[in-house]
Amino acid sequence: MKAARAKREDLGIQCPRCGCRHFHTTHTEPLRDGRIRRRKVCRHCGRKVITFEAVPSLPRGRDC
Ligand SMILES: [Zn+2]
Repeated sequence: MKAARAKREDLGIQCPRCGCRHFHTTHTEPLRDGRIRRRKVCRHCGRKVITFEAVPSLPRGRDC
């Protein structure tokens, strides 16, 4: 049987080994440049990946 693939938007990364998107974040570390480094482990095959996520800066009103 073929597994039904749910149509969902890309919520994140895809496992390069098994192709799933079920990751368990084990570590989150903010970087100095404003990004966030996350260590994730695939729940299915245990593949470890590191992602760098850019955090959009909050829009600030100009205070002159
Ligand atoms: Zn996997």
